[in-house]
Amino acid sequence: MALPFPLALAPDSPGTARGARVCIIGGGGTGAALSYDLALRGLSVNLLEKGELTSGTTGRHHGQLHCGARYALADREIARECMAESLVLREIVSEAIEYNGGIFVALDEEDEALTPVFVEACRSSLIPAQPITVKTALELESALNPGILAAVRVPDGSFDAWRLALSFFAAASALGATIRPWCEVVGFELGSGRARAAVYIDRSGGEPVERRIEADYFVSATGAWAGRVGALAGLDVPVTPAPGTMVAVAARLTDHVISHLHRAGDGDIIVPQRRLSIIGSTERIVDDPEALLPEEADIARLIGYAEAMLPAFGKASFHAAWCAARPLAGRPAAHAGGQAHPGSRSISRDFTVVENGLEGFCTLVGGKATVLRAMAEKAADLVCLRLGIDAACRTREFMLPSWRGFYTGRK
Ligand SMILES: Cc1cc2nc3c(=O)[nH]c(=O)nc-3n(C[C@H](O)[C@H](O)[C@H](O)COP(=O)(O)OP(=O)(O)OC[C@H]3O[C@@H](n4cnc5c(N)ncnc54)[C@H](O)[C@@H]3O)c2cc1C
Repeated sequence: MALPFPLALAPDSPGTARGARVCIIGGGGTGAALSYDLALRGLSVNLLEKGELTSGTTGRHHGQLHCGARYALADREIARECMAESLVLREIVSEAIEYNGGIFVALDEEDEALTPVFVEACRSSLIPAQPITVKTALELESALNPGILAAVRVPDGSFDAWRLALSFFAAASALGATIRPWCEVVGFELGSGRARAAVYIDRSGGEPVERRIEADYFVSATGAWAGRVGALAGLDVPVTPAPGTMVAVAARLTDHVISHLHRAGDGDIIVPQRRLSIIGSTERIVDDPEALLPEEADIARLIGYAEAMLPAFGKASFHAAWCAARPLAGRPAAHAGGQAHPGSRSISRDFTVVENGLEGFCTLVGGKATVLRAMAEKAADLVCLRLGIDAACRTREFMLPSWRGFYTGRK
């Protein structure tokens, strides 16, 4: 059971290390969770985000609270991690989560034959997958294709992507972290093999102003932009921006998250979000993660995939289609920029902290929004180790304040 949020740390409580200054670059979910983790350990945190908070991939993803079932066949480690972290998020940030559950459906005989393998893979990843009859599945969700051949219930969920991140920002701010949207890092000052300062353009007040900030440690949490930000410090950070398209229709066709029971591919998850149903996704590789647009052909393809699971999807009013770039940690063996690349699905969905040999600088990249807290814990452990600070992670312990607190708490 999570404890009430600590509004302040006693100045002399163990682990407070206000003298140590950390600068986080990137104001998506990963930066949000890291700013909270480090502030809770007592460090002095500044976060710089080039646009509005969550304006990168975080504000544009599917919003599925992954229990890990989707990854169970391919990577049990990630599946277990998603299960464990989804349970933690349910405890600490319940306000952003819908506790709706998920159903995997077999659409053909190949999927049906895979069903027991899938259930076993889930269970050995500690995911309580429960086969149900087709009749029960249709009783639970009448919009399902009546021709499905098998169904499995799993503890997936939905969450509000903005509110999840803002709850972490609210907690970080309440503990003294300074969060600066509209501040784009454009360079680093290096000296004697370490990062000394970041140079940034502050657009928060109208006219752009160049500023600099010194810190004892810099963490790039810039997702699909991590390669570019690393290059500003002369580093080669292996990250592959892999955009995916999503299509929303203006009808909440199910309450459960509906997934195609097969080995992961395109267009196999439909997430209910508010009064919408959203099908995703696709995957390709680009060099530039900025200003991505969905491709017409992908939209039609996704609607077709959705109709195979929920026949009413194609008849519902089209609401929107958009695109966001996955920050995949690593690179495929070879790729031609801008072209569809069959190899991108082979890059792990796991996260990593990359240290390139520049002291006082690391990059936290990869993963899923569902595991943002665990990502932050790993990076914060490294920061504390490098700064010689003895402070353990405590982000599992406390319920986060409301996301509203990020705005109201600043008045
Ligand atoms: C199509 C799609 C669907 C997905 N669906 C799900 C899902 O259902 N569930 C789930 O758990 N995960 C999902 N994910 C994964 C999830 O979206 C990402 O793992 C997560 O959002 C990454 O967050 P981030 O904070 O690392 O990156 P971002 O949110 O991209 O944050 C990086 C930030 O860095 C900023 N930045 C870049 N350069 C600079 C600079 N020079 N100076 C300052 N700031 C800078 C950017 O503006 C951006 O805001 C999905 C991803 C995609 C692409």
